[in-house]
Amino acid sequence: MTPLPIRLRMTLWYFLVLAAGLLAFAFFTLAALHHAMHRTVDRQLRAHMTAVRQIVNERENGTLEALHDDLDEDVELAPDLTLLEIWDQGGHVVYRSAPMNRMHVPDSAPKVLDHPTTRSYQRHSLRVLVRNVTTPSASYIVMVAIPINDFMEANRRVENTLWIAIPLLLLLSVAGGYWIAGRALSPIHSMIAATDAIHPGDLSTRLLVPRAEDEVRRLALTLNGMLGRLQAGFERITRFTADASHELRTPIALLRTRTEVLLRRTRSAEEYRAALEANLGELERTSTLLEELMLLARADAGAETLHFADVDLTELVRSTTAVTQPLAEAKDLTWSVDLPTLPIHTHADGAALRQLLLVLIDNAVKYTPEHGSVRIALDASDEAAILEVSDTGIGIAQEILPNIFDRFYRADQARERAAGGAGLGLSIGQWIAHRHGGTIRVQSVPSKGSNFVVTLPTS
Ligand code: ADP
Repeated sequence: MTPLPIRLRMTLWYFLVLAAGLLAFAFFTLAALHHAMHRTVDRQLRAHMTAVRQIVNERENGTLEALHDDLDEDVELAPDLTLLEIWDQGGHVVYRSAPMNRMHVPDSAPKVLDHPTTRSYQRHSLRVLVRNVTTPSASYIVMVAIPINDFMEANRRVENTLWIAIPLLLLLSVAGGYWIAGRALSPIHSMIAATDAIHPGDLSTRLLVPRAEDEVRRLALTLNGMLGRLQAGFERITRFTADASHELRTPIALLRTRTEVLLRRTRSAEEYRAALEANLGELERTSTLLEELMLLARADAGAETLHFADVDLTELVRSTTAVTQPLAEAKDLTWSVDLPTLPIHTHADGAALRQLLLVLIDNAVKYTPEHGSVRIALDASDEAAILEVSDTGIGIAQEILPNIFDRFYRADQARERAAGGAGLGLSIGQWIAHRHGGTIRVQSVPSKGSNFVVTLPTS
C-alpha cells in the first residue's frame, strides 16, 4: 500500500490527537459532574440522617404518635417531600413518610448501608442511606432518600450535548487542520517549483531562504549547498573537458602541419628522418598527456584503484633517482640524493609514489637552468616519512604558488608547452599524496629555487 500523502497524514494525526483529547475531556467532565452531584446529595442525606437520629433520641420515651408528630414537624423539609422510613428491629414500620409510596419505594426493611447508594424504583432514581439508630431502649433501621432524577437528567443533557458537540468540533478542526497542513507545506511547494526551474545550464540559481529559523530554512540552505557543490563540480568538468581538448588540439595540429609541409615536395632521407623524429617526440608527449588525462578522469570518477602494499620508501627513492640521474647530467646539474641507511616502510601503491617522485624530479630538472643543482632527500620522523625535492631553478612567484596544483596550470604557458608540460603533473602528484593520507607543500623564491616537501604516513 502506498503511504498517504504528508498533508493527509498530518491531518490524520491531528484528528487522532484531538479526538483523544476531546474524549478525555468529555470523560473527565462527566465524571466530575457525577462526583459533584453525589457529594452534594450525600451531604444532604447525612444531614437528614443526623436530624432523624436526634429526633428519635429526643423522643425515646414518648409515644409513637409523638415521634410521628415530631418527625412530621421537625424534619427540616416538609414531611410530604421528605423520603424517610423507620423500622423497628422486628421489621415493622414505625414511620413512613407520604412520598415514599409516591416513589414506589418498597416498605420491607432494607440492609444497613455504610455509604449512600443509588437505587431505582420504577422510573425514579433515589440516593439512599440506611443506618441503624440505637437509643438506650430501642434500635431502629432508618432509611433516608433523595430523588436524583433531576440531577440524572441534567447529566444526560450534558452528555448528549457533548456527544453532538465533539463530532462537530472534530469535523471543523479536521477541516481546519487540513487547511493548516496545506499552508505549512506551501513553502515546500514553492521550493519544488523553484528547484524544477533550475536546469543544468544554469546552476548558479539559488532558492530563496526564508528568514524564520525552521526546517524549511534548513532545507533551502541544504539544497543551496548541494547546488553550490554541483555547480563547482559541473564547472570543473566543463573546464577539464575544454582544457583537455585544447591541449590535445595543439599537438595534433602541429603533427598535421608538419606532415603537410613535409609532403609538399620530395625530401631527402635526412629531412624525412628529422621530421619523423620530431613527430615521434610530439606523439610521445601526446600519449603521456592522454595517460595523465585518463588517470585524472578515472580519479574523478572514483574508478582509479591503487594497490596498497608494504613499500620500502628508501629503496623506491633510490631506484627512481638512479633512473632520472641521466636527465640531470644531460643538463649539467649538480645531483645529490640523501637517503637514510635504514628502510622506511609505508603502506602505499609503489607505482603511484614513483610517479609522484618522477613529477617532482622532472619539474626540478625542467625548471633549473644548466649548472644549477637538484637535491632529493628522504627522512623519517616518528610517524611520517618526509621526501624533499629542491632545486636552484627559476622558482615560482609567491602569488601563483597556490595555483600550481591546479589542473592545466602553467606559470608561463608558452615556455612550458615547449618544455613538454601540460600542467597536469602536480595535480596528479597532489592526488597521489592525498590518496596516501599525506600532504604536498611547496616553498619557492623566484630565481633562487623551489623546495617541494611530501609527507607520507609510515607503517
Ligand atoms: P608541468 O607539466 O607544466 O610541469 P606541473 O603541474 O608539474 O605542470 O607544474 C605546474 C607549474 O608549476 C609548471 O608549469 C611550472 O610553472 C610550475 N613549477 C612546477 N615545478 C616547478 C619547479 N620545480 N620550479 C619552478 N616552477 C615549477
